[in-house]
Amino acid sequence: MLNVNVNFFSSALNSLKISAFKQSPIETGGVMVGTRSWHDDNLEFNILGVLGVGDFTEFKHIYTASPNEFICTDRLGWANLALKAVKTFGMSYIGDWHSHPESSLTHLSRRDIHGLAKQYNLGQFAPFPPLHILLNWQTTIDCNISAYIILGDFILCIEPRIID
Ligand SMILES: [Zn+2]
Repeated sequence: MLNVNVNFFSSALNSLKISAFKQSPIETGGVMVGTRSWHDDNLEFNILGVLGVGDFTEFKHIYTASPNEFICTDRLGWANLALKAVKTFGMSYIGDWHSHPESSLTHLSRRDIHGLAKQYNLGQFAPFPPLHILLNWQTTIDCNISAYIILGDFILCIEPRIID
């Protein structure tokens, strides 16, 4: 039985929230860097740095976004955003995040799952699975954070542990 832990460092979580709230009520997203380890049946992620695509004018053309959709339209552009995060924080690219602003939708949409499955099938983070964080809120003081990991035919939804 696989045991998965996702640790989200509060400084990284705060910058994700700032980036997401700034674009509200439009959905947005970005990349995450940190560390991963996989020993026996224990898979652990540490999210230590976050970039939001909406914060950079040079990446404006690589996505489309509306109040109920966020889609990356340029995989190469997205790879360059990830590279920027790797250079900024000096850590590995471990996954992506996106927001559901002013929404009670705490889970990934069918399209979100399709995108995550695509990353998994491409082996983009191999031997690790891709990690995805969803932030949704109805009011900004009441946010919900969930972590998703796709493994074969399964999607695991995990509540990240916030590390101060
Ligand atoms: Zn979504």
